[in-house]
Amino acid sequence: MSEQYSKGTIEGDKKTKWICGCFLTTDNYFKFCSTHNQTLQKAIQDQIDELDMTLIVEEDN
Ligand SMILES: [Zn+2]
Repeated sequence: MSEQYSKGTIEGDKKTKWICGCFLTTDNYFKFCSTHNQTLQKAIQDQIDELDMTLIVEEDN
């Protein structure tokens, strides 16, 4: 819960803001507008296969 960004924290710390509503904060946190969030989410999911990332599997030891 503590790692979740609260809206109040972001507001004062924007580094770059785009006209569509996307913005980048001073600590390099990207917040995308609803339009680009959907597009980027799909793009990222496509990229994950190419990056050959491995899922974390919890072990029951
Ligand atoms: Zn956007």
